[in-house]
Amino acid sequence: MNPGLYIHVPFCIRKCRYCDFYSEARLEGISAYLSALQKEMARVASEVAFEGELDTLYLGGGTPSILRPSQVEAIVDSAARFFPLAEDLEVTLETNPGTVDKTTLGDFKKAGVTRLNVGVQSLNDETLSFLGRLHTSQEAISVLEMARGVGFENIGADLIFGIPGQSEEEVLADVKGLLELLPEHLSCYMLTLEEGTPLEKAHRKGHFSMPDDALAGALFSAVSNALTQAGYLHYEVSNFARKEAFISRHNVKYWEETTTLGLGPSAHGYWREKGLRWWNFRTLNDYVDALAQGGRPVAGQETLGDEERLTEALYLGLRRRQGVDLAGLGRRFDRDLLKRLKPTAGELVKQGLAELDEAQLRLTRRGFALADGIVMRLLRFL
Ligand code: SF4
Repeated sequence: MNPGLYIHVPFCIRKCRYCDFYSEARLEGISAYLSALQKEMARVASEVAFEGELDTLYLGGGTPSILRPSQVEAIVDSAARFFPLAEDLEVTLETNPGTVDKTTLGDFKKAGVTRLNVGVQSLNDETLSFLGRLHTSQEAISVLEMARGVGFENIGADLIFGIPGQSEEEVLADVKGLLELLPEHLSCYMLTLEEGTPLEKAHRKGHFSMPDDALAGALFSAVSNALTQAGYLHYEVSNFARKEAFISRHNVKYWEETTTLGLGPSAHGYWREKGLRWWNFRTLNDYVDALAQGGRPVAGQETLGDEERLTEALYLGLRRRQGVDLAGLGRRFDRDLLKRLKPTAGELVKQGLAELDEAQLRLTRRGFALADGIVMRLLRFL
């Protein structure tokens, strides 16, 4: 599989209450960031000897749609200068409502963006306000409509569910509203409380309680049912595509342990040939300083051993629709995985959580809802 390029754009107009991704609200740092990014591209291109052409460029954040289209175009051009890019490069721009209008969306398309991923999160204004989002539901709908209007043919939307007090009907109303806009891709995440975020602190003070496991499972099933009935492929625990062609090419790289060059503050990269994972300095200042001093802005790195690679392959594989070929994975790591895992896999099958087809173990929809716990059960027998 071809390698991919991820670029973290660390700016947001305002911080959402649940978010622990690194971003700055001081937008005056953008020009220093952009010139540091150029330097990082040059360094990574000369130091990471990966094989093949990059076929994805994913601008994530943060809020990449804060950038001007000319700045996005400059990033795409620089990537083409420093790296070998495939002709059918997928260029994704994470886009937040409240930061774009029809003209900017059209200009992003001209700048080379092929795929928009819109942070809708909910179509309920009370939910959006609870999450601390900057926009209303109507603004989110407008972005999806405008994106279609300017000619984007690959549009994704993010949805968060499991908001305190949210009923199944409310979650389904969000899903139904999104389906009317026919997005090619949907990422649907259960709200999680990340340590140190305003939402997590409010929860600790007892301001609200989170859905229990039974309700969380019911909401997950309701979302999956609604989307699969509408014809979407539930191809990974949190991801749905209107058809195969709209599966996020970039995300698949993480699940298949492909080389991904991660650039920008707090970005992570992985060099498959060496089993080497690295992560950049988290803050913009540290990132810019490291590059100004002529080095790479790498805060840490580790070489993954067999145990870690096997654990990851199992964890990431079982989160996908096709599951894991236990015989093939066992051969790769020189152990009889099928024999070791068969008894537990058999229990999972009896409980309706998995299917075992020869050596192919895959989770059912019910299993998807409990994927993390299931992987933990299996890991004990590796
Ligand atoms: S817009 Fe996205 S990255 Fe920025 S604070 Fe909100 S959730 Fe986090």
